[in-house]
Amino acid sequence: MMVPDGVLTDRLTARRICRQCSASYHLEYLKPKVEGVCDRCQGELYQRKDDSEEVILNRLKVYHDQTSPLIDFYEKRKKLYTVDGNKKIEMIFSEICDIIDKLNKP
Ligand SMILES: [Zn+2]
Repeated sequence: MMVPDGVLTDRLTARRICRQCSASYHLEYLKPKVEGVCDRCQGELYQRKDDSEEVILNRLKVYHDQTSPLIDFYEKRKKLYTVDGNKKIEMIFSEICDIIDKLNKP
């Protein structure tokens, strides 16, 4: 799944989670009806410690240093399938299903 770092940072720093039922919200894209309150259970919404910008930037650095070299590894073996994670959820799901279908054909 390919998503630019800036988009990931925006998604995560604005994410809020319900303390009671763990429902996920976003301050811009999926706002609760009442600020700071879960629509489902009226629980308090909070920001996870690992959703702070500092932690996210460090996680991205670790990813680029340690995990992203695997992209070349799998690409050279023609086993890399890339999905654009910056599209709508339905499009991403459809692309993943298409890849799985291709892999399951003899
Ligand atoms: Zn809740």
